[in-house]
Amino acid sequence: MLDGLSRAVKSDRVAELAERYGRLEGAVLLNALLRDEFDGRVAVVSSFGTESAVLLAMAAEADPSFPVLFVNTGKLFGETLRYRDKLAAALGLTGVRTVGPTDEDLAAEDADGLLFTRSHDACCHLRKTVPLDRALEGFDAWVTGRKRFQASTRAALPLFEAEEGTGRIKINPLALWDRERIDQEFARRNLPRHPLEADGFLSIGCFTCTERVAPGADPRSGRWAGTAKTECGIHTFKKTGTAQ
Ligand code: SF4
Repeated sequence: MLDGLSRAVKSDRVAELAERYGRLEGAVLLNALLRDEFDGRVAVVSSFGTESAVLLAMAAEADPSFPVLFVNTGKLFGETLRYRDKLAAALGLTGVRTVGPTDEDLAAEDADGLLFTRSHDACCHLRKTVPLDRALEGFDAWVTGRKRFQASTRAALPLFEAEEGTGRIKINPLALWDRERIDQEFARRNLPRHPLEADGFLSIGCFTCTERVAPGADPRSGRWAGTAKTECGIHTFKKTGTAQ
């Protein structure tokens, strides 16, 4: 936990970033963050989901070797793994790193592979949060593809956030983008779509916990459907400061 002084420092840092970079976006913003602000110690975290191609294309434009972290929980759709490879090749991304839970952790905590039936939170912690946290060691910041329109729970998403307990900065360069703008960018860049999107999967995680989305519903409503869970855990660190 951060003490009060650390919290204030982080809040200042978030405000400073918003002031300096809040009017930039896309490859220009990513380039500035990668080269100037964080001196290589910033990574994109991507699920290679239905909208990921836009952010990844911007990262590739800034620098094809931009570090891209992809968490393979061991429960992903085969379509997602093949899409990761296809998209990375199409964009020329050379810095994609696939991470996941260790064999030791799985043996100790999910030996039968059915932890998700007993506790979604414990399973996401084991298979997503812990592997990503390990992969982010050595990085001062990470870039996400989250947007406000994706869910009511993301309606106030800021451009910059400070994570409590890690000291890292989270950057959400597409926070203000809407569905129409995403679609326009797919068309403008001729980006390939995730193969499951046309089948009604608008937000795609593990095959065990992802359902098709009803017409007009929140794009993320197919995740952990029928439960109160809305986030896997990698985005629910308590924040010490936000700015837009
Ligand atoms: S989405 Fe489901 S299977 Fe995947 S890590 Fe979370 S609980 Fe486990």
